[in-house]
Amino acid sequence: GPNRMSLREVARPQPGPGEVLIRVHATAICGTDVRIFTGRKTREIRHGHPIGHECAGAVAAVGPGVSGYAPGQPVAVCVVVSCGQCEYCRADHENLCDTRYTLGYATDGSFAEYMLIPALAVSRGNLFHLPATIPMEIAPLLEPMACCLNGQHGMGLGRGRADTDGRAESLVIFGAGPIGLIHLMLARAKGVGPITVVEPVAHRRELAKRFGADEIFSPDQFDAAGRFDTAILAVGVPDLVSVALRAVKKTGRISLFAGFSAGAVVTIDPNTIHYGQITVTGASESRRRDFAEAVSLVEQGIIDPAPLLTHRFSLDQHEEAFRVAGDGSALKVVFEI
Ligand SMILES: [Zn+2]
Ligand SMILES: [Zn+2]
Repeated sequence: GPNRMSLREVARPQPGPGEVLIRVHATAICGTDVRIFTGRKTREIRHGHPIGHECAGAVAAVGPGVSGYAPGQPVAVCVVVSCGQCEYCRADHENLCDTRYTLGYATDGSFAEYMLIPALAVSRGNLFHLPATIPMEIAPLLEPMACCLNGQHGMGLGRGRADTDGRAESLVIFGAGPIGLIHLMLARAKGVGPITVVEPVAHRRELAKRFGADEIFSPDQFDAAGRFDTAILAVGVPDLVSVALRAVKKTGRISLFAGFSAGAVVTIDPNTIHYGQITVTGASESRRRDFAEAVSLVEQGIIDPAPLLTHRFSLDQHEEAFRVAGDGSALKVVFEI
């Protein structure tokens, strides 16, 4: 239940027809897990069950009828399970599938020794073979990378210079937590720049510099108007919507990437969108092809997410792990199991 978590012995699950059982070796705490733990996210959540979705492990056993996976193979999990039939799936938006569910919220998650991957997820290709060049402890970071890639595709970031008269697109990222820093790395890899980061916490501004931001502000020093081609909200602060609308140029594109607290309301001046021909998009979760792209970017060494991994714990240290993940002192926290 909210603010209560315990470690329990349970029977090892047996994979049924079409299912794959994985032995989890590394699993990271997502901001969403912290929101679940503190009771701020309740959709899809079943109390009394393990959560956790950013994970990698080895195939432990396969159920009858499974092909393509064998015990011992390293795998990483892409968590949105979609139908492949509905209008969203057919339009390449499987993350918005009408009957989608998320592994680790709707099913027993990865903060456990074993995780059962349902038959639909296996047949849809949600279980990715992990290349030997990607260390197991890094692999849980593929999932948030995939989410950021989906968001960047959705806003057309780095799609070409035709819109910007030949120069690179400029970008402002609000928030330098793990998600903001992943956006920063991915955008740099796409040739987006200059990149400005706005972040209230001093040590995170320092990190943004280390991760290659060209310019860093605390929110009280930031009052840019009409300066950026694109903006990403990597923190769910409703008032930042107006700040971003003001900060972008005419024809600017804004992604409301971070989730807001349920019921959040904000006042904006609609004429900034009207006269500026500004595009506002959102993004949530990821598609299998974003996950494949994340695997490829890490495999080729284009992105190295390892510096994001700041804390490692065993499962019995879950209280301390959730504390540092929740209070902002850690970037990514990984359980090694
Ligand atoms: Zn996540
Ligand atoms: Zn669907």
